[in-house]
Amino acid sequence: MDLFTLSAINLVIGLFATVYFFIEFRRTSSQKYLLDLCFAGVCLVAHSAFSMLYQYHTLPGFISPFVINTVTVALHLMVLSALHRLLEQPLQRLYLLVVAITFYFLQLTPLIQQDQLSRLLLGFGIIILINVLCLRVLARANNDTFSSVVTYFKWVMYFNITQMTIRGVLFITGKYGFTTPAPNPIVYQLGWFSLTIYGALILTGGLMILARQRQLELEHRAERDSLTGLLDRSSMQKKLNAELNRCQRQGQPLTLMIFDIDFFKGVNDKYGHQVGDKVIQAVADVAQKNLRNYDLLFRIGGEEFLICLPDTNATQATHKAEKLRLRIEALDLLSEEKITVSIGFAIAEEKQELDALIKRADDALYHAKAEGRNKSVAWHDGMLTVAMQTPNGSITV
Ligand code: GH3
Ligand code: MG
Ligand code: MG
Repeated sequence: MDLFTLSAINLVIGLFATVYFFIEFRRTSSQKYLLDLCFAGVCLVAHSAFSMLYQYHTLPGFISPFVINTVTVALHLMVLSALHRLLEQPLQRLYLLVVAITFYFLQLTPLIQQDQLSRLLLGFGIIILINVLCLRVLARANNDTFSSVVTYFKWVMYFNITQMTIRGVLFITGKYGFTTPAPNPIVYQLGWFSLTIYGALILTGGLMILARQRQLELEHRAERDSLTGLLDRSSMQKKLNAELNRCQRQGQPLTLMIFDIDFFKGVNDKYGHQVGDKVIQAVADVAQKNLRNYDLLFRIGGEEFLICLPDTNATQATHKAEKLRLRIEALDLLSEEKITVSIGFAIAEEKQELDALIKRADDALYHAKAEGRNKSVAWHDGMLTVAMQTPNGSITV
């Protein structure tokens, strides 16, 4: 294929990436990696547009080849930035700008200007280095969420490093007379063609990420309750069993806590269902904010919630229960009364079955209700004990 056709294909790929990733970024503006991929598309558009123009008009030197080469480097930098963002690894983006600007001005130095080979090798060297940095980001990715995408991008980087190395070797051997010397049309076309493949691979990679994110969104929504956004009962058994097994294997304690809003029917009757919903949301919010990121919170009934606290013994669980109870009591939600909750919790014993543990937490909750509500009760060592808040603020069981 001639350079014009290849550039036209690159232009289409670049335009599609720019528009598509921008639309997706507007839809989910928290996903900034999409903006990086959009800019990568802009770089490909600029590269192809200047290259096509260059086929018919002589362009000033500062554009061709200097700007064309710089946007190629910028395209790779944007991919590096996108991977950093997607895989949540920190990066000073200012460095990327510094690299692109330095590269542009390095090309203007007399040594690089005089010798086409040094200019090409400078570009190849920088792009290979960026690809190696991308591989480093991919190797450090430690979440399974994007594992297939990570593998895919690793292969894209291997491809790009290999093609750049082969072309670099062809240029060097050409210069010293071992192969057809530059300007060798085959080597040039290979370069443009490789960029087409790279652009298409990155575009496909971006679409793969989006597809994976859509799938995650659906999974997320399927197991969440629509009012509070908390996990619902559908995945509870599986998640709790996994946590219980893990804690028992590692010899760690695990606490299950169930809490229920007191006299909630009265709230609905007096203030209406909508206010009732707001109360449920506010209580869920407080509970969520009191958790560590590895605790699990489920809405298991209308105004009933379950919390799974791995690595939490009886004393810690009592403190957590009382803290939660007091924080909810401190909310100022209704004009005439306080919202309170009753809490029951149980600590898993060795080889304890999940259902038996839930039953113990439930019995403890029932006891808290029977003891007058707005209390936390522990099921521990075969006994039900009410946690007491002493006047100096310390808690006893
Ligand atoms: P107790 O202290 O014994 O828990 O008394 P209660 O009134 O809270 O207990 P009960 O289980 O009898 O009432 C729960 C009420 O919660 C009944 C139901 O109308 C209400 N409810 C269940 N789900 C929702 C919901 O999604 N929104 C609202 N607003 N109310 C709900
Ligand atoms: Mg209730
Ligand atoms: Mg209830």
